[in-house]
Amino acid sequence: MHWRIGDVTVTKVVEAEVPVALSGLLPDATPEALERHVDWLAPLFIDDTGTAQLSIHSFVVESQGMRILIDTCVGDREVPGLDGMRGDPGFLDRLTAAGFPPDTIDVVCCTHLHFDHVGWNTRWDGQRWVPTFPSARYLFCRSEYEGWMAETNPFASNLPDTVAPVMEAGLADLVDPDHRVTDEVRFVPTAGHSPGHVSVLIESGDATAFITGDMTHHPVQWAEPDWGFIGDWDGPMGAAARRRIADEHADRATLVLGTHYPTPTAGRIVRREGGCIFIGEG
Ligand SMILES: [Zn+2]
Repeated sequence: MHWRIGDVTVTKVVEAEVPVALSGLLPDATPEALERHVDWLAPLFIDDTGTAQLSIHSFVVESQGMRILIDTCVGDREVPGLDGMRGDPGFLDRLTAAGFPPDTIDVVCCTHLHFDHVGWNTRWDGQRWVPTFPSARYLFCRSEYEGWMAETNPFASNLPDTVAPVMEAGLADLVDPDHRVTDEVRFVPTAGHSPGHVSVLIESGDATAFITGDMTHHPVQWAEPDWGFIGDWDGPMGAAARRRIADEHADRATLVLGTHYPTPTAGRIVRREGGCIFIGEG
């Protein structure tokens, strides 16, 4: 999938789509509570049984001659504690087939450091984990990095394989949560899901797009900002971030690109009586 935002292009490269009971991700999203949203969620974002598709994908943003990879999925490894969750070794072939061989990526941005956003930062070379994108600068938000370094949280268990080798190779930059990547692409602080979570704002000409990261996992969270993800680091902070971003972008031309939304992945936040909804568009 491919979008044009002014002079910027965005391409989605999928690693996996996983069916999940939505209430397993968002405990408040019970079938009863979802009923009032079925009219706009079905059939794209929920089915009759309350099952949603969780997409794991990267976005490649092309801006001012730079190829910027946003989030790097699960990678070629099993995830401790999550039975059966394993990345797809074919991901790098799909990235290359989409026109982006790994050695042509200029910048890697991780919205946060959970396992499904840093996985392809590295690949196994037969002896050790090495950076997958040798020509890239990898941007990690400083507060995110320092937050996980200071915590003994199961979410941090991937970091020795996915982040440490990049740091050791001297390819990482620890940046502020409002870091500007190009004149057209910058980070927006949206902490809550994790300590230094960032989203990505694209502004080019009259066009604007917003890449969520995991400040939402599913479009229903625009309507129900208090419905947090089961693994949020600070739930109320995450809810406040969703309210703030919805206020800024609802009823505007902003194209919202969901980091875990299945096809059509993109859409707009629209106000209606009682709150916001999300209208997907292909
Ligand atoms: Zn995620």
